[in-house]
Amino acid sequence: MNAFTYRQGMLCAEDLSLERIAERFATPCYVYSRAALTAAFEAYRRALAGRSARICYAVKANSNLAILNLFARLGAGFDIVSGGELARVLVAGGKAKDVVFSGVGKTREELQAALAEGIGCFNVESESELTRLAGIAEQMGLVAPIALRVNPDVDAKTHPYISTGLRNNKFGIPIDEALALYQRARMMAGIRIRGIACHIGSQLLDAAPAAEAAQKILTLADALAAQGIVLADLDLGGGMGIRYRDEEVPSTEDYLAPMLDLLKDRREQLVFAPGRSLVGNAGLLLTRVEVVKHGAEKSFAVVDAAMNDLMRPALYDAWHDILPVRLNGANERVERVQEHVYDVVGPVCESGDFLGHERSLALAEGDLLAVMSAGAYGMAMSSNYNSRPRAAEVLIDGGQAHLIRNRESVAQLYAQEHIAPL
Ligand SMILES: *Cc1c(COP(=O)(O)O)cnc(C)c1O
Repeated sequence: MNAFTYRQGMLCAEDLSLERIAERFATPCYVYSRAALTAAFEAYRRALAGRSARICYAVKANSNLAILNLFARLGAGFDIVSGGELARVLVAGGKAKDVVFSGVGKTREELQAALAEGIGCFNVESESELTRLAGIAEQMGLVAPIALRVNPDVDAKTHPYISTGLRNNKFGIPIDEALALYQRARMMAGIRIRGIACHIGSQLLDAAPAAEAAQKILTLADALAAQGIVLADLDLGGGMGIRYRDEEVPSTEDYLAPMLDLLKDRREQLVFAPGRSLVGNAGLLLTRVEVVKHGAEKSFAVVDAAMNDLMRPALYDAWHDILPVRLNGANERVERVQEHVYDVVGPVCESGDFLGHERSLALAEGDLLAVMSAGAYGMAMSSNYNSRPRAAEVLIDGGQAHLIRNRESVAQLYAQEHIAPL
């Protein structure tokens, strides 16, 4: 569903115009749609109807408490990658037993905290982590439920920075070493084997690599069963892509279909850990044009959002559609504004600070722009670079707007710092 549509030439989030939202909360500001978040979750639920399956939202995509709370109330579990994310999930109303803990470098403190909370499963990514976890669990008089995250060595055909399932990645245990490690895990008093996990990458637009990975996982699960190691869970990770520009994106149902077909006679519970596909198209970044600058070679629209707010263009050369909040001609100006090709850039002192290159827009200073598909890996990756306070976040529910994160203040930027008594 698209919660962001034009009404009488004005871009709206559900039933509220973005102009009203900007007046009330100022810019830059992340705007999310409850309806779109819910619809994305329900699409997974529908695709998995009739199966024993869990949807564990990958918290790192967008970890705002209000969003975690919404997914918890919809019945989601959570996939986390740090102790900080565990704390967020618990504060937001999630249950530790519904949490899966992924990540290549979990610290002792993180493992202890997760064990003490009674986490659902540790997705273990190395032999060293397994041994460490077993030791900590025994010391605490507990048993750690685990899956081994295996690296199935399939090419997810995505950006190299977000590909995780190839043999040369840092993630997971090489699939041909997993059987031996399961046999070791079985002998460890502090460990209870729950399942097997994989996650091959992000922004995947083709269902085939995920199905190929699932097939490898099944072959391994059967080899384990032959050794008397029976798994309760098959965690197939996340990674389903979204449309940013004009990509051909399968529906959730179509993306999952080849995998579900392979898995149709399995007795294990299926676990999926989507992040981007639950939140990406449910959010946008609202920004205002500060300066219009016609240079010798190029025209620039300098906006009040920057790479510190939305890093994906600078980091991956990612495309985000940039839409005018007020359509040209749909305003009270007597004449339409001339359309130009602009680089939409932020005020940060880096040439890599851009939100979009070569966009045809009819702009005047003070106009509002919406940077679309910014719900995933947007605010979550933001920083204070250039001493820029982080943006506000607003969740729209029909005609209601809820402030879910205050705009940071300048004083907060240095609140943790101390002048040394030299
Ligand atoms: C990041 C991540 C996910 C979610 O990936 P998306 O592409 O956002 O769906 C799922 N599982 C693990 C282990 C991850 O690291």
